[in-house]
Formats: sequence, structure tokens, C-alpha cells
Amino acid sequence: ASMAKGFDLTAAIRTIPDYPKPGIQFRDITTLLADADAFRGAVDALVDGHRDEQVDLVAGIEARGFILGGALAHQLSAGFVPIRKKGKLPHDTIRVAYSLEYGVDEMEMHRDAVRPGQRVLLTDDLIATGGTAEGAVKLLRELGAEIVAACFVIDLPDLGGRKRLEALGVQVRTLIA
Ligand code: AMP
Repeated sequence: ASMAKGFDLTAAIRTIPDYPKPGIQFRDITTLLADADAFRGAVDALVDGHRDEQVDLVAGIEARGFILGGALAHQLSAGFVPIRKKGKLPHDTIRVAYSLEYGVDEMEMHRDAVRPGQRVLLTDDLIATGGTAEGAVKLLRELGAEIVAACFVIDLPDLGGRKRLEALGVQVRTLIA
């Protein structure tokens, strides 16, 4: 069920069966992003618990985490830092391998993107196994970030990502399961 009030976030998300491969139910947020009320409502709900905390930076995971993260950063008067697939960032980077459904990939942050002690809110559109978000947590902690929370529009609870992040001591906020 959606936790946001006044509109139906769940209805704003489109499900594409068997994308990108058979058996996957792809939760497509492009329809939510194109719906002004749903987009604003999702962003407002995600920032809700964090308005009174000092958030210095929002870190967004490529690519849908960039769209949400920019809006969250604006709402919180915070900066934004991108966490990208390897090879995309132009300056000195730190890199981490993370697990995918089949195999591993790597993602990067600029080495100077966060100063030790800065308070960071991590975001992406969806948490499934939590492998991607765990990689992001490792990068942020390597730079000395204090992770205020990790927030996602969608949780796939059967895949265990929330518990995986909570086991790392990260507070998790999601809007729809
Ligand atoms: P995971 O690392 O397993 O938590 O996967 C999360 C990442 O994969 C996020 O960046 C999601 O955007 C993407 N993802 C995983 N499963 C889905 C799904 N069923 N629908 C849409 N995106 C997904």
C-alpha cells in the first residue's frame, strides 16, 4: 500500500512483464515521473522524515536515482552527488564491485565527492536484493560519509534488500511494497 496521501502512487507505476528478461516484473517509474502530482507526492513523502535532519548531500544511483535525487536535494537544500557505472566519471574515482542477479558489476564515485562526516541521504527508485545499494553504502562510507538513510520509492520485500541494508546499520525508507 502507498504511504503517500491524496493520490495513488501504486497506480502511477507501470509494470512491464518479462522485461528485461523472462520472469522479471519490471516496475517502470517513467509513468510516475510524468505525472506531476505523483512525482511531487513521491518526492515530498521521501523527504518527509528528513526535513529536520541536517542533510548535506543526496547521493543518487545511476540512472533513476539521479532524477529522484535531484528533486530530493532541491527540497532539502542539499547538494547532489552521482554514483555511476564504471568509466563514466571524469575525475579521480573510488570503485566498488556489487552483485547483480547474474554476476557482478562495478560502480564509482568521485574521490572528492564527499568530505568525512558529511551527512548523506542515499536514493534510488527501487530496492530489490539490495546489492546495488550495498555497493553505494560501501563507497559512501569509504569516503567517510555519515549515511542519514537510504530511500526508495519501491521495495520488493521478498528479495531482502531492506534487511540487508538495515543489517549494515542503514535506516531504510520506502513508499510502496
Ligand atoms: P538490487 O541491487 O537487486 O537491489 O536491484 C536494484 C536496482 O536494480 C535498482 O537500481 C533498480 O532500479 C533495478 N531493479 C531491480 N529489479 C527491478 C525491477 N523489478 N523493476 C525495476 N527496476 C529494478
